[in-house]
Amino acid sequence: MHELGVVIQIVKTVESFAQENEITNIDTLVLQIGELSSVIPKYVKDCYPAAVYGTMLQDTKLEIEILPGNCMCHNCNKVFNFIKCNRQCPDCGDRDWELLSGRELLIKEIIAY
Ligand SMILES: [Zn+2]
Repeated sequence: MHELGVVIQIVKTVESFAQENEITNIDTLVLQIGELSSVIPKYVKDCYPAAVYGTMLQDTKLEIEILPGNCMCHNCNKVFNFIKCNRQCPDCGDRDWELLSGRELLIKEIIAY
């Protein structure tokens, strides 16, 4: 489980952003995690309290939005979900596609109160 290290890095990034912008009243941190990312949302949630302990994000809430793993078929240009369609174009059956989204790990928003 590498999520703790990842979350600690995110917390550091948010802290320096907040300091630069003189934000002291953070209520909620919103992350976007792609469903094909190597980071597992449940583990991120589980280790968040430990990662923020003793930082300015202590006592903040964490929200996670899941971004779908979408592919575009090179044969017919259909956009489909990688997991639901079992890595295969649902229209033409082709396996020649390009990943459009789903590997992201983004800080979407810092909500102040
Ligand atoms: Zn296709």
